[in-house]
Amino acid sequence: MGIYIETDKCTGCKLCLRACPYGAIAVEEDKAHFTEDCTSCGACVSACPVGAIVMEVVRAAQVDTSQYRGIWVIAEVQDGHLAEVTLELLGKARELAEALQVPVSLVLPGDEVSGLAARAGQYGADEVYLVEHQNLAQYRTGPYTNVICGLINKHKPEIVLIGATLQGRDLASRIAARIGAGLTADCTGLEIDTEERLLRQTRPAFGGNIMATILCQQARPQMATVRPRVMKKLEPQDGQEPQIINVPVSLDAKSIATKIVEIIREEQQEVVNLQDADIIVSGGRGLKAPENFSVIRELAEAIGGAVGASRATVDAGWIPAYHQVGQTGKTVHPKLYIACGISGAVQHLAGMSTSDCIIAINTDPNAPIFDVAHYGVVGDLFEVVPALTDAFNKEFGQS
Ligand SMILES: Cc1cc2nc3c(=O)[nH]c(=O)nc-3n(C[C@H](O)[C@H](O)[C@H](O)COP(=O)(O)OP(=O)(O)OC[C@H]3O[C@@H](n4cnc5c(N)ncnc54)[C@H](O)[C@@H]3O)c2cc1C
Repeated sequence: MGIYIETDKCTGCKLCLRACPYGAIAVEEDKAHFTEDCTSCGACVSACPVGAIVMEVVRAAQVDTSQYRGIWVIAEVQDGHLAEVTLELLGKARELAEALQVPVSLVLPGDEVSGLAARAGQYGADEVYLVEHQNLAQYRTGPYTNVICGLINKHKPEIVLIGATLQGRDLASRIAARIGAGLTADCTGLEIDTEERLLRQTRPAFGGNIMATILCQQARPQMATVRPRVMKKLEPQDGQEPQIINVPVSLDAKSIATKIVEIIREEQQEVVNLQDADIIVSGGRGLKAPENFSVIRELAEAIGGAVGASRATVDAGWIPAYHQVGQTGKTVHPKLYIACGISGAVQHLAGMSTSDCIIAINTDPNAPIFDVAHYGVVGDLFEVVPALTDAFNKEFGQS
């Protein structure tokens, strides 16, 4: 990665100074030049009105991979807390780091977020790059990309993991494009080849019909996004204080193209927090009609579970999309998952097959859902599910 200024084009307008998060540009005699603090983050390139700043992205084949060491997780902060997916990624990063004998670092951008660093330590971070600035208080693509690209260029991690959330998907693709790295999105498995130091990134491909394992042999860092609830977070370890590395940045609000005016949260008619539910009862096309979801709801209510659904039922308009489990829905990891009238297409399995206990109810004994089920009932859901609901209601004294 190289960045330079074509001085014959530079007019000394100083707009690049405002764009640089690391204060690493000086203007003398109407010509800009980089100081030794430049991280090659590239934030100044688009700020230059005359195209005098040029960024050269090193072609993958030319990258010296031996210069890159360490595993990074990019933190996401939600409502003042580290997002669950960040803690889950720290757990996976710890496992990979132990195999590679390198530290786990968390990059924590935000405003007044230093209090979250200790929690990152409990969940596996050895060190935290703390980047605090009022203009990082809420996620915005531009400043987050600039700041994180600068850190990556300077410290050269070999692996960068980001949550496949709305924010993470936006950020990861921007970073990967800026630094010329590859990116494997929505991984469901991450393993390490310790000899080659290659991250084996597994994800569904071709509409979920195969599981592809992707290697990034030449570019660095190796970047992957992982959806919430795919990886398991570690049990928190008290007394694991991470090393804090304060990263000073200067972010001029005028150089940031976007401004958050108001955050409006979408109101759901019912609270469905599938990803945190310990019990999920899901319905599929075997329900035959939208009103029959009442059978699923009654069982879910009897056992304190949430209602999930296959995409076929969502696509048919039987139930809102936020109930959908699977590759294009939510990834869930409950203690108990009851699949009723769901065939078990690979795209559905991608979202629930790591559940601790799976019970499948289906009239077809050859339905693929039985391949992942711990307990299977071959039978008509309209008989089996109400019978279960009655039994639970009797057991828990609700009838
Ligand atoms: C790119 C892509 C992404 C996708 N993402 C997702 C996703 O995120 N989630 C998802 O779920 N799907 C997803 N799909 C769709 C997926 O391929 C399947 O089409 C879908 O999961 C099927 O839903 P289903 O099991 O409800 O329906 P079906 O496959 O039609 O299965 C219905 C089942 O009900 C059983 N049945 C019928 N009557 C009864 C009864 N009375 N009692 C008990 N059992 C009965 C049948 O034997 C059958 O097994 C995706 C597809 C693609 C191409």
